[in-house]
Amino acid sequence: AVTVVWLRRDLRMRDHPALTEAAHAGDTVLPLFVLDPQLIDVATPRRDHLLASLRALDDAMDGRLVVRRGRPEEVVAAVAEEVGAEGVHVSAETTPYGRRRDERVRQRLERDGRSLVATGTPYAVGPGTLTKPDGTAYQVFTPFSKAWRTHGWPGPAPMPRGLRWARADSEGIPDGPEVDGAGEESARRRWKRWLDDHLGGYDGERDRPDLDSTSRMSAPLKYGELHPRTLLADIAAHEGARSKGAKTYTDELCWREFYADVLWHHPESAWHDLKPALSSMTYSRARKPLEAWQRGQTGFPMVDAGMRQLLAEGWMHNRVRMITASFLVKDLHIWWPEGARHFLAHLRDGDVASNNHGWQWVAGTGTDAAPYFRVFNPVTQGMKFDPDGDYVRRWVPELRHLAGRAAHEPWAHDEGYAHGYPERIVDHKAEREEALRRYEAARRG
Ligand code: FAD
Repeated sequence: AVTVVWLRRDLRMRDHPALTEAAHAGDTVLPLFVLDPQLIDVATPRRDHLLASLRALDDAMDGRLVVRRGRPEEVVAAVAEEVGAEGVHVSAETTPYGRRRDERVRQRLERDGRSLVATGTPYAVGPGTLTKPDGTAYQVFTPFSKAWRTHGWPGPAPMPRGLRWARADSEGIPDGPEVDGAGEESARRRWKRWLDDHLGGYDGERDRPDLDSTSRMSAPLKYGELHPRTLLADIAAHEGARSKGAKTYTDELCWREFYADVLWHHPESAWHDLKPALSSMTYSRARKPLEAWQRGQTGFPMVDAGMRQLLAEGWMHNRVRMITASFLVKDLHIWWPEGARHFLAHLRDGDVASNNHGWQWVAGTGTDAAPYFRVFNPVTQGMKFDPDGDYVRRWVPELRHLAGRAAHEPWAHDEGYAHGYPERIVDHKAEREEALRRYEAARRG
């Protein structure tokens, strides 16, 4: 018998429970990827990475990956029919769009007498698995992370033995540029190098965008080139397993799982405030400041460096994501979904759970204890986390003539604006007061 494995956020060969399951259920396995117009025609950096990852996967599958374009319920049903498969195997999808889509596909397959078999998820602990003792969902990270560690996860899934591919026509993978680091093998090499070089020091270095020493695993995790279970097993087996770095890194992976869990329980929180407390908040709809922020032309060096890194690389350091997001929400008074949309359009790792809840964390409308009245100062944050100004000079050429931390304060130097860097578009102190005034008014209702 033939089984189909329909791949989505699991573009890898190793540690792939759905593939292992498909191989056990059939003599041959047909690997299918559907180019869903809803997902493929959106953001360029994500599409480029996806296509590069598909090319790598196709190589690993001896050129047998079948790629078809169309609505998933039609394509999956048609392919299953063509090859006579009874079962279509997937890793369960947990985002609001993915869950609705999979339900449509399941119904369609069942109408034809076939089944959709879900094994595993893109997470170590599947979203929706953990609940508080009273049966409700966690809303706060720390208790969730305790429950997550206590629950634990299985070790990596074994490679299926004697895996043989079935054949079907493929439309082929659309052309796209080479993408550095895309694909399971590249991600794996980067990961192993990072483990040896940086795991132990992660705790001390992770907040420093100038050092660029975080793992850059967000895109591999997004496409499932590596599974978090693999990363956790590698950490446990590493000589630095007991270091503070290993503990902190595991917590970061847990943040990813936490946000996926929150989204699973509250699908509407993808684009609406999770907590209604600030629903009467007034926001600005001004286009000009929004565009200045998007282009990295706000006149605040740390904000502009981050926004330009995003446009250039499709990635931004976590600390700078927080600084730039805070600036949009608290200095420009723009509602967080505007920023979340821009990030998703440009991030290679763009992920609705981590991104939109990361934004809500900054805005004070989401989970957890980030107090709404904490307003980041973009200048002191810059000096603290980019102490020598290296990160700013890397991304803002108009400030390269300023040595050391002077790059964070062009206004304090005679030649500060000599190379065309823009003046500040707002007065941070005044906007901070304005933000606090708005938050107070919203809280009073
Ligand atoms: P590392 O520091 O090496 O962390 C390891 C892994 O832990 C990351 O790959 C990621 O999977 C996870 N992780 C780390 N920090 C967080 C966090 N705060 N929340 C959730 N997971 C985390 N991450 C995304 O993957 N996609 C997004 O679209 C995204 N948008 C964000 C938007 C905002 C406003 C903020 C504040 C954060 C966002 N993050 C997002 C989280 C974080 O910034 C990135 O995961 C991280 O910068 C990726 O770089 P890295 O892999 O080198 O991180």
